[in-house]
Amino acid sequence: MLNFRNTNIFFLIVLAIFIPFQIKAGLSILWYLLILITYVSILFYGSYYVCSGFFIKVFCKGNTLEKQIAITFDDGPMESYTPQILDILKTFGVRATFFCIGERAKENIQLLKRMHQEGHDIGSHSFSHSFWYDLMPAKKMLADLKKCNN
Ligand SMILES: [Zn+2]
Repeated sequence: MLNFRNTNIFFLIVLAIFIPFQIKAGLSILWYLLILITYVSILFYGSYYVCSGFFIKVFCKGNTLEKQIAITFDDGPMESYTPQILDILKTFGVRATFFCIGERAKENIQLLKRMHQEGHDIGSHSFSHSFWYDLMPAKKMLADLKKCNN
């Protein structure tokens, strides 16, 4: 199965096979460039096609024959947009999921309460919403998520 772990194992094996050839025959740097491009391309595929489940198990489709969609909003709550969104959802009797940034939720606690009272789901979108979030060590990520949940 094509996933992050198996891809890393495969490419480590490929490199382990190449190294003795490199020592004996002095292979061209182009071979390493080809391996690197292939590896990065696979990582790009896994990152771009989230439903592939390359990095983690994901659920992209429900087990139903009904035509349904899930509506989600990221990066709120914001005083400038969230009340309007909540009004529209209320008008049409639609519920959604709001993935909130902890810093913004802290400043807009009334909007968070309104989301909850009107039956919407609230998810964590980190506390800081740092640009470097994806590069944070796991411990720091977890601390940020816990801070958001609190
Ligand atoms: Zn975001």
